[in-house]
Amino acid sequence: MNFEETVSFIRELYPQKEFVALHEPVFNGNEKKYLEECIDSTFVSSVGKYVDLFEEKIADFVGSRYAVATVNGTSALHISLLLANVANGDEVITQPLTFIATCNAISYIGAKPVFVDVDLETMGLSPKALESFLDAHCIREDGQCINKETGKVIRACVPMHTFGHPCKIDEIAEICEAWHIALVEDAAESLGSYYKNRHTGTFGKLAAFSFNGNKVITSGGGGCIVTDDEVLAKKAKHLTTTAKIPHRWEYVHDMIGYNYRMPNLNAALLVAQLEQLENFLADKRELASLYQNFFEKQKINFVTEPKLSNSNYWLNAVILKDIGERDRFLEYTNSRNVMTRPVWRLMNRLEMFKDAQCGTLENALWLEERVVNIPSGVRG
Ligand SMILES: *Cc1c(COP(=O)(O)O)cnc(C)c1O
Repeated sequence: MNFEETVSFIRELYPQKEFVALHEPVFNGNEKKYLEECIDSTFVSSVGKYVDLFEEKIADFVGSRYAVATVNGTSALHISLLLANVANGDEVITQPLTFIATCNAISYIGAKPVFVDVDLETMGLSPKALESFLDAHCIREDGQCINKETGKVIRACVPMHTFGHPCKIDEIAEICEAWHIALVEDAAESLGSYYKNRHTGTFGKLAAFSFNGNKVITSGGGGCIVTDDEVLAKKAKHLTTTAKIPHRWEYVHDMIGYNYRMPNLNAALLVAQLEQLENFLADKRELASLYQNFFEKQKINFVTEPKLSNSNYWLNAVILKDIGERDRFLEYTNSRNVMTRPVWRLMNRLEMFKDAQCGTLENALWLEERVVNIPSGVRG
């Protein structure tokens, strides 16, 4: 790769920026207006109209029946897993190539992650690898999936749509169903991404989205759970709001709940961001296509949306020749105020998960050494 040309190309994409960040938020809409309204009304905290408004609008956007706003994406995942009946001692299949939040949420419950490989094309959980792992290591007994090695129940599967690119989620859903495993999508990165014209996060029992500062739209910090199941939606609301029985003055709680609600202040910011989502997505597609043209000429492998999908191109990525070229590229770009970063260290290589059971992880290992994210923010 010609590093110098690449850096000048990226600088031209963001002519206003001295430092080009990986993904910066853009606030060009009604953000200040709605925030001011919140402050003037004093409804800045756990109740207020923007939380309800946001839940209505996001459910509508993704095409799910219900949405419950949460304080961040990690808590949305935590509650989704609890509602998928994951309990202490259970196992949950996920991909090793993901952000730590996926595995943290599994661990909060006292469940253990089991790592299955990703596809090279999508960088998300591979249905083939999933099926061969289950065939080799698991049996079906009394409507449950039992891991023969550990004797534990594999209760749920959490695929992740890496950098916003949809994984082969319909095939994964079919396998999970055949094996009595609940499907919970980590859709934190994939707001605005569709697989076979259906929004990611609507293929399983529940899904979690994130609105952290670096995501496609942001509430500062925030997340949400989506589901089509009314009972689960009600439970999600109850559990994330301290499990308080509604009453005008009494404080009675019927279980150990969580204070995971999204403050109205954050929801106000988010409603304003959601109004701009279509514009953001259009700009991100245009940016990705500029990158694609440029890297094609350079004969560099630029990651494009997988077949049958429409990606939000949350984070653009290139796949370099080897770890040596990757490290030289990271050094060159970051020392010239153009932020780039390698993909996450694989989860099974972190101290906390080093003893986790793994399938063969050749694709994840190959990608770990080569994938680098490049600046992807909306050009304000
Ligand atoms: C961002 C993200 C989350 C959630 O993160 P929060 O910071 O808690 O909102 C979860 N999973 C993945 C893969 C993510 O990228």
